[in-house]
Amino acid sequence: MQELITTWTMAIASLIATLLLLLAIYTWPRGERRRCPGSRGWKGLWNPARWIRRSDCWQDLTGVPVTSTDEIRCPECGRSTPIGRVLRDGRRIRLGFIGVVLAMLGLGSQIGVAAHSGRPLKSIPTTALVLLSNTSIGAHRTVIRNEIEQRVDAGTVAGFDARRLADALVRDLRTDGRKWNASTADEKLRTMWPESQAALERELTEGDRQSRKIAAQILRDKNAAPSRSLQITCVDDLAEDWDVGARFLLSYNNRKAARYLIDHYRHASDLIRAALDSEDPQQRWLAMIICGFARDSTVIDQVVPFLVAELRDGPGNARAAAVTLFRFGPPVIEALRPYADDDDRQCRETVRSIIERLEHPDRTWDQFENRMPRISWTTHDPLSLGFWEATR
Ligand SMILES: [Zn+2]
Repeated sequence: MQELITTWTMAIASLIATLLLLLAIYTWPRGERRRCPGSRGWKGLWNPARWIRRSDCWQDLTGVPVTSTDEIRCPECGRSTPIGRVLRDGRRIRLGFIGVVLAMLGLGSQIGVAAHSGRPLKSIPTTALVLLSNTSIGAHRTVIRNEIEQRVDAGTVAGFDARRLADALVRDLRTDGRKWNASTADEKLRTMWPESQAALERELTEGDRQSRKIAAQILRDKNAAPSRSLQITCVDDLAEDWDVGARFLLSYNNRKAARYLIDHYRHASDLIRAALDSEDPQQRWLAMIICGFARDSTVIDQVVPFLVAELRDGPGNARAAAVTLFRFGPPVIEALRPYADDDDRQCRETVRSIIERLEHPDRTWDQFENRMPRISWTTHDPLSLGFWEATR
């Protein structure tokens, strides 16, 4: 708090100093020489009134006769002044002098704080640094940005400042050839949550593919509500995206997006159903799993043939396919029946086991007539696996 007061006092002092100096230049006395300068000696400086007033007399000397030694004798204070020292008319206050003193005080204390803390911009108000961060002067790795990042870590950037800074940081998430700026921005945006949320949401529509994906990853990790643009980015995340840069910020983004879409299936069902026809095999596959985990029985006839094909002995992902089919629940039974006599033993046994488990959920392990074949090395009961284990 005390730091905040110091910062703002110094900032306001600097601002006033600048204004005073500008005003002093603008109103530079350029009238006629006719004002009595009063006392000009050093002794007069003991009087504080002399620091702000240009003259302690200011008598109008117009029409006063000039003496033989080219001096004018002031009828008010009685001092004699050489004609060249009479003051020009204009403002009565020493604006320039006050401005210089204020500027020196401000500058001096800023240098003091900077030298003491080792942070050259420590005394600059956060708002000023944030506004500069939105320009190239305050870009990644500049003194300005370093200072503001230290304040983010200290938790002192909030409200308006945080929202404006988030606007600058989300742009750093884009592909721009600069190293590590996306990584730093990712970290700071997470630190500034939830004040960074609005900027992240906006980046989902305004950003490039990399920044959209990173923004979506942060929003998902923070459990943000499923806005339409977030749903769209999540569905895009299901597709193969190894060509997108900054991969290290997108670990497990395919499965994290799938997990998120399962939880918010109600809002995004049309997008996910559309992804079932995708050109991208991984996107298609994850969309099927999402539909199963979300128990969308409207797509059963469309997806069952593909999932059953994965059950057959071979390179397919039998475990994820079996769990997905099981997750559809009883509505999937009729679609599965034709495959109960499939030529492939692993497929046949898995389908029979799923049907029995769905028809007789109350049966215990030793009562099952159809045992699950070993399609998973980690468990004897692969059908009970959750999303993360099933898709590993
Ligand atoms: Zn005078």
